[in-house]
Amino acid sequence: MRTFAFLGAGQVGVIDKPVPTAGPNDAIIRTTASFICTSDVHTVHGAMPLPEGRVLGHESVGVVDWVGSEVSMFRPGDRVAVSAITPCGHCSGCQRGHTAQCGGMLGGYKFTGQKDGSLAEYFHVNNADFNLVKIPESLTDEQALYATDMLSTGFVGAEFAAVPIGGTIAIFAQGPVGLSATIGAKLLGAGLIIAVESQANRVALSKHFGADVVIDPSTEDVVDRIMSLTGEGVDGAIEALGRQSTFEACIKVTRPGGVISNIGYHGDGGCLRIPLAEFGMGMSDKLIRTAACPGGSERLTRLLRLMETKKIDPTPMTTHRFNFSEVGEAFRMMESKEDHIIKPLITYD
Ligand SMILES: [Zn+2]
Ligand SMILES: [Zn+2]
Repeated sequence: MRTFAFLGAGQVGVIDKPVPTAGPNDAIIRTTASFICTSDVHTVHGAMPLPEGRVLGHESVGVVDWVGSEVSMFRPGDRVAVSAITPCGHCSGCQRGHTAQCGGMLGGYKFTGQKDGSLAEYFHVNNADFNLVKIPESLTDEQALYATDMLSTGFVGAEFAAVPIGGTIAIFAQGPVGLSATIGAKLLGAGLIIAVESQANRVALSKHFGADVVIDPSTEDVVDRIMSLTGEGVDGAIEALGRQSTFEACIKVTRPGGVISNIGYHGDGGCLRIPLAEFGMGMSDKLIRTAACPGGSERLTRLLRLMETKKIDPTPMTTHRFNFSEVGEAFRMMESKEDHIIKPLITYD
């Protein structure tokens, strides 16, 4: 089968590998559509140590090709989605509800992190009954793909921000995760959604998805502007970029007792610094929460339901479309972010 793989630091390419095999609780999926994720780019550039030849990707949907003897809820031919995070459902982390931390720190991230990922003609899903969900007939593959990572991650950012109905929220960066957080904040009833973004197509999408105000950090002092809009600061601030400067700004613009909800990937610097004055010297009652994409079929079912009942439509985030034969070009564009790319859809026909 054709796969898109890590070939050494900064190097990627299409290589042939055997179709994976699976154990009694697992399934093999024939891929029909995938997204490339910014975290695939981080991975290739050193976010985690990987063996050469490891297949990239964790946002894919497809058709069940094979199931193990213990899989009871799925059969070959079922059209399915699977989360980027595929917890075991049994360990202490899973039982406590921290599915991304299955088996230890970020251990729910099995695609690419622990085994071949899903940017391939076939991929393996562990604990299939826990992780797969049938895609409702009314939904396209493209819609279902949004549930695999972008909506789940963006929404957990909004859920953890815990803004009361009618409350205020600031969302730093409107990439696909930040935009999904904006959709989530609106669903959860935020009364004032302030987004921070400078790129024109992302600003337009942010407003489309529910931002009331979009602040351009290249021309405005973001902290001053948010404080003047809210007086006391926002109830919750979401960090969806992964930078020291935006993490710091989140702490500054959050009111005492509010929540800083971090879903950005912080890959540099070794430590994140906290501005002490705005953190009340450690006594501000401000809460910092962090999360990765939660996994499991129950959450996927809810995310798909929102699209089935037409409450949300994330597909305007799909800016580019490629056949799998062009996956290298799609990845290169995600690295350079050229042509204002947000999400590239990869199909396999
Ligand atoms: Zn992803
Ligand atoms: Zn687990």
